[in-house]
Amino acid sequence: MPDNASLVYQFDLLKEENRRLSLDRHIFDKFLDVSGNAYFSYNFESGDFHCVGNFKGMLGVDVTGVDDIEKIREAVRNEDAESVMDILSIDPDRDCDIITKDFGLKTGRKWIEVTSFLIRDEEGFAQEKYVSFRNITRLKVQKDELTYLAYYDNQTGLINRNFFIEQLNEKVEKAKSEHVPLHVALVDIDSFKRINDSLGLVYGDELIMLFGQYLSSFNNERVTVGRFGTDVFVISVYDPGKEVSVEGIVSEIRNRLKKPFTLSNKDEIYLSVTVGVAVFPDSATTGLGVLQNAEICVYAAKDSDREKIHYFDTNMMKKFLEGFEVEKRLQDAILMQNFELFYQPQYNIGTGQLRGCEALIRWREHDGSYIPPMKFIPLAEKSGGIIPIGQWVIRTAVNKLEEWRQKYNYNGIMSINISAIQLKKDSFVDDLLLFLRSSSIDPENLEIEITESVLIEKTSEIIEKVSKLRQFGLKIALDDFGTGYSSLSYLRSLPISTLKIDKSFIDTVISDDTTGIITESVVNMVKRLGLETIAEGVEEEGQMDFLKKINCDNIQGFLLGKPMEEKDFEKYVLEAAM
Ligand code: C2E
Ligand code: CA
Ligand code: CA
Repeated sequence: MPDNASLVYQFDLLKEENRRLSLDRHIFDKFLDVSGNAYFSYNFESGDFHCVGNFKGMLGVDVTGVDDIEKIREAVRNEDAESVMDILSIDPDRDCDIITKDFGLKTGRKWIEVTSFLIRDEEGFAQEKYVSFRNITRLKVQKDELTYLAYYDNQTGLINRNFFIEQLNEKVEKAKSEHVPLHVALVDIDSFKRINDSLGLVYGDELIMLFGQYLSSFNNERVTVGRFGTDVFVISVYDPGKEVSVEGIVSEIRNRLKKPFTLSNKDEIYLSVTVGVAVFPDSATTGLGVLQNAEICVYAAKDSDREKIHYFDTNMMKKFLEGFEVEKRLQDAILMQNFELFYQPQYNIGTGQLRGCEALIRWREHDGSYIPPMKFIPLAEKSGGIIPIGQWVIRTAVNKLEEWRQKYNYNGIMSINISAIQLKKDSFVDDLLLFLRSSSIDPENLEIEITESVLIEKTSEIIEKVSKLRQFGLKIALDDFGTGYSSLSYLRSLPISTLKIDKSFIDTVISDDTTGIITESVVNMVKRLGLETIAEGVEEEGQMDFLKKINCDNIQGFLLGKPMEEKDFEKYVLEAAM
């Protein structure tokens, strides 16, 4: 028989053990709570029910006994309730041993993963059931965000290229089986780069967001809108019932664009778009094929009437492929330097003396024929090939001038055309000046022709560059004056020495009184600004007489000489030098 003291001792021991156990349990519950877990278990034989974790905190309902399980239903959102309760059911005959499901709560704020598994005896009868609950809200939100990023464009909320193509492929399959056409329209914002540059990044983004949000209003079960690139959007229309059409949507968009978009800084910005449409199955038999054709179509449409909707046809594809072919040949020509400079004389009308010439490039083909610049300069500008071509032009023209000077003591001017792309290159001015310093020509004898559209942009960078050339002594001519934004007032602020009046003026200078008057006042004003004038494209005696009468300084045109090969122009050089 234990004595009193030992009973007390054992009692204390048990008490202490109990205290430790409940402290352990307390700590354990806390850990579960913090880690977002809760468990219960049920023994089918004994009916024992155990639970740990903070059910109240997780689900909003207290779970302390087996009868409480049914209460969990109240917490689960309706669409998940049935299957969750099925997992929780205390039923030894359930066929699944392990089963997991994610479900949301009615509050909409939490996501839970529930897992149940059965432990069976040797004969396979269920003995115990364990159920765990895990709070997966954070994981779920992260996963949703990743899915969003993978499929959506977060600036506009539209679906992105990948998701659009995925959906397009499904639609193509449907269109195939139902023999219904599927239209894909690519919508490209015109000159977005320029707009973006002038607005700055933040407002450029806002503009895209506004336009994208507007386009998203077309989304429905027949129409899908996606974003493909900075300023490229895509719309697919699959409508067996023929209730909506691409034409209808595009004309609605164009109508909207008659009004500006208002930015948060109150700026009102107008947009215009080019639209290319390709149709399945007419243009291609796969989703990607149709898309590509719509892209080609927009590309081709940029050079034509932008107000129209452009439909893809096989002719377009042919032209597109030819373009590629030409581009490839042009690359070869650049490598082989298969170019030649032609020279067109310019005359001083007053004295009748040769002023100099304009160097005009030709691409020499293998068969000896020449391709005119209008056919390849725009292409070279797009591909960047204009940089090596332009360098070749400068070197060839300057070397030629040097040669004529040495051989014939020639003192005429050599005018060369410079593309905007060349001028925008950072090192353009330094490279040119370095090269000129190594030559023996007088900078006064070299003239750089820049078109109006380049100078009108008048970015401080361009103006600075041109001024630097002017300071070095080069002549700077404003080419094609009158084809662009022709405002005489801005001429004053440009660092130019020469104004070339465009052929389009000269063409009607006699037949149209207004043109005559304008040309005369242009010449007068320009001369007062201290600039030299050259009339381009003079083809007739009458035009020359008129230009002489209004005191235009120089003329250039077929009347006095077409652009010609070097050996022919040398005769003019010789004559001038004598
Ligand atoms: P542009 O600078 O306006 O050159 C004048 C164009 O008008 C030349 O065409 C010339 O042949 C043509 N022309 C001159 N007088 C007459 C005339 O009386 N009647 C008619 N109908 N045409 C006349 P071209 O040589 O075909 O050059 C076309 C354009 O290609 C040039 O226009 C220029 O913008 C560009 N270009 C030519 N060479 C170069 C070059 O080396 N570099 C760059 N970037 N562009 C060049
Ligand atoms: Ca020119
Ligand atoms: Ca010109």
